[in-house]
Amino acid sequence: MTKSLVVTGIGELTVNNPQAVDNESKPEPASNMAFAVQDGRIAWIGLSDEAPAADDVLDVAGRAVIPGFVDSHAHLVFAGDRAAEFAARMTGTPYSAGGIRTTVAATRAADDVQLRANVRRLVHEMARQGTTTVECKTGYGLTVDDELRALRIAKEECDAATFLGAHVVPAEYADRRAEYVDLVRGPMLDACAEYADYVDVFCERGAYDEAETRLILDAAKAHGIPVRLHANQLGHGPGVQLAVEYGAASADHCTYLEAADIDALAGSETVATLLPGVEFSTRSPYPDARSLLDAGASVAIATDCNPGSCYTSSMPFCIALAVREMRMSPGEALRAATLGGAQALRRTDIGHLSLGARADFAVLDAPSHLHLAYRPGVPLIHSVWKNGRKSV
Ligand SMILES: [Zn+2]
Repeated sequence: MTKSLVVTGIGELTVNNPQAVDNESKPEPASNMAFAVQDGRIAWIGLSDEAPAADDVLDVAGRAVIPGFVDSHAHLVFAGDRAAEFAARMTGTPYSAGGIRTTVAATRAADDVQLRANVRRLVHEMARQGTTTVECKTGYGLTVDDELRALRIAKEECDAATFLGAHVVPAEYADRRAEYVDLVRGPMLDACAEYADYVDVFCERGAYDEAETRLILDAAKAHGIPVRLHANQLGHGPGVQLAVEYGAASADHCTYLEAADIDALAGSETVATLLPGVEFSTRSPYPDARSLLDAGASVAIATDCNPGSCYTSSMPFCIALAVREMRMSPGEALRAATLGGAQALRRTDIGHLSLGARADFAVLDAPSHLHLAYRPGVPLIHSVWKNGRKSV
């Protein structure tokens, strides 16, 4: 048994009932809430003056407490910097999927120590902004050995590791696409399967088309590995429909959707993961979050932290964008950044603070979760706790 902890004096507590039918986080009506943590789990919730005795007491002095953010989409195993590409984009050069190859070259040239240090740096940066769960993809190695080492690092340093050998077609296979797809779904996946929580494909013009995506998803299925997809980011396409057809955990981006795509997502278990930092950083139109939410689709928000299309690691920034640019309510955005992310990773023990949930939470230097969107760019994270232990 680890030491028990009681958190008291909470000005506003957001629990996030996973059974609630609406898509909005609603704080507990009472102020001065408290909860108890035992063995890394939520063991009791109630009013401060009724709190049980505990080994340690944390009085948060009227601050708001929320579940830790679940960042369900990030690409952290890379080397190099594309700040100059970003600057060029801001003055008129459009974003294209091909820029990924710049990072591939730098990543292949880096050693394991450098790659692991970069992942740790970013995971810590995320934690300082309230994130307690991080999914991490490969996709900048694109050889059997480079993808395998990236996936092992992701698996060791993050909470979920996704094999994305089908990120782009590497330059050396530009005239032999079919050969590369065969490598990904054959020897590369065979080598990586043991470490892959998910298989992902960048299904997009300039990356992988429908037939290629199907071949890779079929291979994942044969290995019994669940899938997720980069879908409909740069234009209309088959990605979302494929994600639903294959029972993907999530369809990510969802920037260009037809009515049939929204219907398909709403009628499925596939979470629509929106990545508004990408639209911000590529100066692109934002996804239609309102139509997805109003149709009843499950929605998550994630950072897509990566060196090319979006190099933010901040879930609070993405919440602010979701509210300002996608017309989500602050409660919808908070839910999408916590419970929505958990659903996108098929986790039932995180993203909420109900009895029995993992004690992953953030204390805000603010009286209310509304401040996350109301005060964009402001460091509002007072402290962060993972498994009931202080991490930041
Ligand atoms: Zn991505």
